[in-house]
Amino acid sequence: MGTFKVAIDGPAGAGKSTIAKAAARQLKFVYIDTGAMYRAVGLAAVREGINPNTDIKEVEALLPKVEIDISHGDKGQEIFLNGENVSKEIRMPEISVAASDVSKIPAVRQKLLGLQRSIAEKTDVIMDGRDIGTVVLPDAELKIFLTASVEERAMRRYRELCEKGIESSFDKVKRDMEYRDKNDSEREIAPLKPAEDSVIVDTTGKTLDESVEWVFNIIRESREK
Ligand code: C5P
Repeated sequence: MGTFKVAIDGPAGAGKSTIAKAAARQLKFVYIDTGAMYRAVGLAAVREGINPNTDIKEVEALLPKVEIDISHGDKGQEIFLNGENVSKEIRMPEISVAASDVSKIPAVRQKLLGLQRSIAEKTDVIMDGRDIGTVVLPDAELKIFLTASVEERAMRRYRELCEKGIESSFDKVKRDMEYRDKNDSEREIAPLKPAEDSVIVDTTGKTLDESVEWVFNIIRESREK
């Protein structure tokens, strides 16, 4: 039997990573968070004082010096930038915006695409991102497009940041989210959109447990086919 691949795409704050992580644990699949890779490149740019929205050439010049590795252990996926574990730092709100900016640059996408495909080749995976079903794994056995209203997504993300003790405000989180939604959906290369053969899951008004259960059932049914 070949490997079974699940692609989960959708806008920021739709619950992709939480749901994908829970489903992967139950199914014993490897969970791959591709957003973390874009965040690591965004962090690398910010650390160099580069504005990734305007200084495209500088980001491109930096890329050969950016080595990204991921590992999977008890804590789930951890991400390393040139050997340094940056799993926590990449969650800062300004890095979300930088990630969205670098993700518009073709050379960045090219670099990360190779990495993402090579990991998925070897094992059963649940991979989440924006273009997994459309570009990274177009042959995935199952594609899910996970979404929710922008208010609800912003509220979830705001609560998450509060829990982690990261200072922010609901309005700022919502504005950042709208910025990223627009950036991610309107970019020329690999824009955020549901693959034609994806199952759309709208979690507005659903609790996390209900959403996990819903997605888990979709995966189970698809595997039994
Ligand atoms: O998923 P997460 O919010 O961590 O992703 C951060 C940013 O990385 C997104 O806003 C998006 O611009 C970019 N991204 C992407 N393609 C992916 C995953 C993330 O462009 N497959």
